[in-house]
Amino acid sequence: ATPAATMVGTAIGARNGVLFKGGDVLERVKDVDTVVFDKTGTLTKGEMTLTDVVAVGPAADGSGVVTADDDETLDEDAVLRYAASAERNSEHPLARAIVSGAADRGLDLADPEDFKNVPGHGIRATVEGKTVLVGNRKLLSDAGVDPVPAEDALRDLESEGKTAMLVAVDGDLAGVVADADEIKESAAEAVAALRDRGATVHMITGDNERTARAVAEQVGIDPENVSAGVLPEDKADAVESLQADGTSVMMVGDGVNDAPALAAAYVGTALGSGTDVAIEAADVTLMRDDPLDVVKAIRISAGTLAKIK
Ligand code: ADP
Ligand code: MG
Repeated sequence: ATPAATMVGTAIGARNGVLFKGGDVLERVKDVDTVVFDKTGTLTKGEMTLTDVVAVGPAADGSGVVTADDDETLDEDAVLRYAASAERNSEHPLARAIVSGAADRGLDLADPEDFKNVPGHGIRATVEGKTVLVGNRKLLSDAGVDPVPAEDALRDLESEGKTAMLVAVDGDLAGVVADADEIKESAAEAVAALRDRGATVHMITGDNERTARAVAEQVGIDPENVSAGVLPEDKADAVESLQADGTSVMMVGDGVNDAPALAAAYVGTALGSGTDVAIEAADVTLMRDDPLDVVKAIRISAGTLAKIK
């Protein structure tokens, strides 16, 4: 494009809250044939709320057998109190929802000792001398706690698109807490518009398969294009393997976790509300956090978005 055309495109972008990092980016965006969306905070609002607390007692595996050495079953409030106390120092949106949900229920939290993040899996903390785990199936099974008795509860919550987390106290499964997030109003429309343009749309997330598929279904992304349970360090590999066969990927994300994938993609697109690390790694920033602006970015690059709005 001529320098004048580049200036016009950049200006149209700016007016629409679509910031291109330079003329070469503006040129490149039109050639994107695959768009990979991060789930949390990108397709969803990223505003989690605690929705469910389930106590899973020692006999909750359906056997009905409680042996003499089984610990007393914790009730829902106790499960939530341990989980929220353990998560008190965590910045993760899942954690913040658990903590404020506990506060809403009037629970008096303890201060955790030995707080440790296990990225992509959850946290481990000591609360009142007890070891508390809050996280996914792998977090518990790696610590030798069998998550299976909670499987029915997990399944139900995940099918509703909620993120369900297991809670273990001193080596025993205690229960499940679940957070829900709302899907952005324009997410389905954005996916449909991209597909209309002939682009393939994928979703990638650290969240579990069932939750991911429930969200994908609601926004119109094919189940075979959903990658779930992807660890932060593996998101970039996922983008690179899509690009290995000549696909031009636009990765759209907001989190620190997404930064390497944004850098690896042919075009990295960050949300304006995203973390600084993501914005720095990206080529395009969408100031309105609106998934539909992905379509706008492509149309501006292709010169098909009217100059005057
Ligand atoms: P996302 O890609 O959705 O941001 P993460 O990679 O941060 O997800 O986390 C993946 C999964 O690990 C979460 O869905 C959750 O099950 C678990 N997890 C991560 N951090 C926490 C936490 N602070 N408390 C509980 N569970 C967590
Ligand atoms: Mg995110």
